[in-house]
Amino acid sequence: MTERLFSSLDRETHLQKLKNQIFDILVIGGGVTGCGIALDAAARGLSTALVEKDDFASGTSSKSTKLIHGGLRYLKQLDVGLVRETGTERAIVHKLAPHLVLPEKMIMPLIKGGTYGYFSTSLGLKIYDILAGVKGDDRRKMLSTSQTLKLEPLLSEDNLNGSGFYAEYRTDDARLTIELIKTAARLGATALNYTKVIDFIYDNKRVTGVTCLDTLSNITFNIRAKKIVSATGPWVDLLRSKDKSQHGKSLHLTKGVHIVVPHKTFPLRYTTYFDSHDKRMIFAVPRNHKTYIGTTDTNYKGDINDVTIRLSDVNYLLDAVHHAFPKVKIDKSDIESSWAGLRPLIHEDGKSPSELSRKDEIFTSPTGLISIAGGKLTGYRKMAQRIVDLVSQELSGKTIPCNTKQIYLHKQAFVNYEDVKKHISAVENILAERGLDQYLGFYLVHNYGKNYNQILDRMTDFEGLPEVNLARAELWYSIHYEMVQTPIDFFERRTGRLLFDKQSIGAIQAAVLSDMANYLHWTDERLIEETQHLDQVIEKTTMFL
Ligand code: FAD
Repeated sequence: MTERLFSSLDRETHLQKLKNQIFDILVIGGGVTGCGIALDAAARGLSTALVEKDDFASGTSSKSTKLIHGGLRYLKQLDVGLVRETGTERAIVHKLAPHLVLPEKMIMPLIKGGTYGYFSTSLGLKIYDILAGVKGDDRRKMLSTSQTLKLEPLLSEDNLNGSGFYAEYRTDDARLTIELIKTAARLGATALNYTKVIDFIYDNKRVTGVTCLDTLSNITFNIRAKKIVSATGPWVDLLRSKDKSQHGKSLHLTKGVHIVVPHKTFPLRYTTYFDSHDKRMIFAVPRNHKTYIGTTDTNYKGDINDVTIRLSDVNYLLDAVHHAFPKVKIDKSDIESSWAGLRPLIHEDGKSPSELSRKDEIFTSPTGLISIAGGKLTGYRKMAQRIVDLVSQELSGKTIPCNTKQIYLHKQAFVNYEDVKKHISAVENILAERGLDQYLGFYLVHNYGKNYNQILDRMTDFEGLPEVNLARAELWYSIHYEMVQTPIDFFERRTGRLLFDKQSIGAIQAAVLSDMANYLHWTDERLIEETQHLDQVIEKTTMFL
């Protein structure tokens, strides 16, 4: 049985720890950047705290294209350093969590007059492989037009001039974030969701703490720390202005939208990185029974806390698909789910959203507040390393070496991807015996690593339909080990059902919410409110303004 370090039921204990200790480092923001920093800091022996105003990964870190990729587009921008770093990081993150960061072969069709030409792609992908140290069968292959169509018959034959076939990785961004913070907790960090920083505390003009609002109880309290890092993504400038240090460079937010359709409507075989009708590059990614498509990239000036999807965003993505895959007919009514996120990029005068660099930047204010923004999911470990190098230097005058390359994101780690596949087929057999769809074998191992065992064991304690028993066991696990506080935490960020298996929610919703009410001691009113909120969020995934 896994140690219970990250339970929703132990909230009071976590709160007491946050209130009573002076931490070496307090991280504000529980996205991939903040959780990566907390893990690195705890691993180097710093006493570490992290607070998140909503749920872990509820910001940009659950809204990405969910790829761990080197970023070919940066090569086009001649950002060789960024390509090398993210390219190398892919393999490291895969090694640390092979069940969660999956190898994925990709096709980049080449269109006459498109973004990339045949020779520049051949050279670019080769440089990409060299920079990222890609070996053996994973090295890029250039395919002829007929070879390309054989692999991906849905592509348009018109103007096709072969393709690049290369290796990247696919993940689940929210699960990656939660595994990072659970690992940080295993190494001694104290972290809490639904805890919003509402003010800074200063001593002699240096920031030495924060005032937080526990948004579940509405109670405020203070946390003290020697170093405070804001890893608040799109909210970085809000905290910098609260610290009165919003000078010089500022954030430039751009919105990215994804839509999800049934795989049978868009039966893509490989993840494809294709030219849209307006010469941007877009991904279409097959994921079990679904295919998702994204992303848009438009300037954003609206409400950061409520990013809505416009009909024009959806039409843009549908037009892009029809342009590259004329045999595919997708209508707005085929869309089953969607998501929209904000890229916290650094503003550069005169540059369009797609031209802005994805490089991360660190700002240190005169009060000592350290902020980090920009970057990629893929580069989270290196971003964390840079921050913790800086913090440990400032704390002790020396850099404690970073060792996150060696820290697996699960206590019981898989040896490699072959090992993951063996576990998936073993789970498929168990599920088949229990009358469940075999695909759930992949789902359980991908989501929970070897902790699927606890869920399968727990499932046998419930009496009812197998789908419902499985969902109740998942909820039990995520309450006790993953700090779930609301139905959206569970259905969107811990299980991904809201995005990729929305149909499954109807049959399990009542049982899951009733269990949740019992575990978390909700009143009847709270249960009604949470049920209504879940219904609204489900509706919003196909509501385009
Ligand atoms: P966030 O995830 O936004 O985390 C910041 C957190 O801070 C939030 O959870 C927020 O609630 C919290 N917070 C804010 N204010 C406070 C406060 N006052 N108190 C406490 N907490 C607070 N990268 C890739 O590598 N691969 C991809 O495929 C990819 N695709 C992308 C597609 C899109 C559409 C977008 C938008 C980005 C994509 N990225 C991708 C980039 C990547 O998703 C981001 O770089 C990354 O998720 C940013 O993480 P973050 O932790 O910095 O920010």
